Amino acid sequence: MKKLFICIIIATALALPLGAAACTSKPDRTAYSITAEYDDESGTLTAECTVDYYNGGEDTDVIKFNLYGNAYRKGALYKPVSGEFATRAYYGGASYGAMEIENVSGAESWQVCGEDSNILEVTLPERLPGGGRAQVSISYTLELANINHRTGITRHTVNLGNFYPIACVRSGGGFIEVPYYSDGDPFMSDCADYMVEITVPDGYTVAAGGTCERQGNTVHCTLENARDFAMVLSNEFKKLECDADGTAVTYYYYDDDNAETALDAAAQSLLYFEEKFGEYEYPSYTVVQTGFAAGGMEYPAFAMISDGLEPADAIYATVHETAHQWWYAMAGSDQINNAWQDEGLAEYSALCFFEEHPNYGFTRTGLINSATEAYRAYYSVYNQIFGDADTTMGRHLKDFVSDYEYVNIAYNKGLIMFDSLRTSIGDDRFFKGLKDYFERANGKIATPEQLIESFTATGVDIAGFFDSFLEGKIII
Ligand SMILES: [Zn+2]
Repeated sequence: MKKLFICIIIATALALPLGAAACTSKPDRTAYSITAEYDDESGTLTAECTVDYYNGGEDTDVIKFNLYGNAYRKGALYKPVSGEFATRAYYGGASYGAMEIENVSGAESWQVCGEDSNILEVTLPERLPGGGRAQVSISYTLELANINHRTGITRHTVNLGNFYPIACVRSGGGFIEVPYYSDGDPFMSDCADYMVEITVPDGYTVAAGGTCERQGNTVHCTLENARDFAMVLSNEFKKLECDADGTAVTYYYYDDDNAETALDAAAQSLLYFEEKFGEYEYPSYTVVQTGFAAGGMEYPAFAMISDGLEPADAIYATVHETAHQWWYAMAGSDQINNAWQDEGLAEYSALCFFEEHPNYGFTRTGLINSATEAYRAYYSVYNQIFGDADTTMGRHLKDFVSDYEYVNIAYNKGLIMFDSLRTSIGDDRFFKGLKDYFERANGKIATPEQLIESFTATGVDIAGFFDSFLEGKIII
């Protein structure tokens, strides 16, 4: 049965009024206020990021920020893309960028440090107690490489993922520093409030998540309770927009004969996941076609989809990234140590959507079979190369030897695991468990144990089931 949804293509931009602050007390989360200007001649973003930092950990003298944008510099220890993607990513040959911190005000002192110059450490003028707030303002420039990746200039667009210093997640008295591992999504952050103002050259459109308003060449966006914030700029964008039960869904593209279907897939999957897992909490959802070496990339209220995909794969990627709104953006997990948790769920949620929407051409059996075949091929090859293929799922990103291995373990084996779980415990328990997990994990970073507990709470003992997959004992 086709889901009810209204899709009226709106020709003119929607002028959404910015919501007035309804409450006076600040929520227990960090707020970023970023002012940026993009210069297309130098390919540089000049910005100031004012952080109203909320200390969710123990007392501290410092605040640490991940400088993901610095991974694109020449000589970086961790390359932003793996060898398998390098040619597709660096479309014009080698190219470099950098995130240069110019100044930090409100600090006693500051330094760029970390394993790979990937951390900004700001020493505060006075000790910050747990639960306290501190304000610092970081001036920086982000030089963009020519690369089809999260942060860079592509042939048709400018991808601004990871374009600002983002506070490291606290772990007791410390901070979790995350180098830019090329396999997987090496990101970990707490939900925060965003106010972003970007000025672009004449003719450029800003595609972003949240509530945006344009005045002249400046676009002002707000997004609350979000794990991250990203944008894509282009002077070639066309736009389709529709309303999915109160959520404005927008698709920006420059070369897509299938644009209406892409918009439909985004809006319909958004409605389907809301019904299956819980309410979508952002005011809008924006999907953008862009230069991207892999299939796509998820951000809160926002997704990048590669312009190099075949039409069916682009639809698949759109639904996968939409599922990440639940499994990553809202219900967070540790993507560094347990990538299967959000990738496996995003893959399996996409399967569930396609199963109920056969008009997109994918079937449950077809998706299971192709994941199983791919996984078996990987297993056979890696068994030959390494003698004994490591099939554990709960592994650190640095412990994957290739992107090929990462995809087979986190995506394909993840999909097979969730399908096997659903077959074992039945649809009712399976979807009840996911709904419960979403409710508990929303706004947080959930452990695998918390996911397992949500299924256990439906009255089944499945700890052994998860162990057999996660520890690599199951034969597929
Ligand atoms: Zn994904």
